[in-house]
Amino acid sequence: DVTDVATSRLELESMNGQLRQLSKTDFLTELNNRGTWEGALQNEFKRLKRSGHQGTLLMCDIDHFKRINDNYGHAAGDVVIRQVAQAVKKNLRETDVAGRYGGEEFAVLLVDTSADQALYFAERLRKTVEALSMEFNQQLLKATVSVGIAEYNPQMLEHRQWIEAADKALYTSKAEGRNR
Ligand code: GH3
Ligand code: MG
Ligand code: MG
Repeated sequence: DVTDVATSRLELESMNGQLRQLSKTDFLTELNNRGTWEGALQNEFKRLKRSGHQGTLLMCDIDHFKRINDNYGHAAGDVVIRQVAQAVKKNLRETDVAGRYGGEEFAVLLVDTSADQALYFAERLRKTVEALSMEFNQQLLKATVSVGIAEYNPQMLEHRQWIEAADKALYTSKAEGRNR
């Protein structure tokens, strides 16, 4: 029957759409997964090479996260990761692209944004996380993040260099005392 065929096709298309979405998304945080995020960064990097516009990359890592896992358990750690991801989302503009870069590390691409402007975003995010009280099994968990910022520089030959620059800045934030 033609109607049955049409219905099955619609269902199949809908399921394919859902699968496509799932394969792009990190399950725990519902942010872009690493592959999706890095693909978006690569595209923006190529675009910047042509346009000469600005862009800034931000790397954010939860401070002393191992202690949260060790003291409260892995499930509590997951709650913290999810809440920090929410804080990232809350501070984003529509054109920004955020992803879960690693275990408790997040990356944000701020489109058409200078490092000075990115600093506002980073500081807002830092304060938002610092102010969170996350509940887990009737306990209140606290966390802070360290952030590294790197502006796009036309001398960069490939997008990985951009990530390395942001990573280096993140490392400096950690070394200078974290929560900064
Ligand atoms: P630092 O301030 O230097 O960042 O210290 P840290 O303790 O956060 O150090 P590090 O980045 O090495 O630790 C990350 C830990 O995150 C290690 C790993 O066991 C844990 N982790 C990674 N992914 C997950 C996850 O999905 N859930 C939970 N609960 N823990 C995770
Ligand atoms: Mg960490
Ligand atoms: Mg880390």
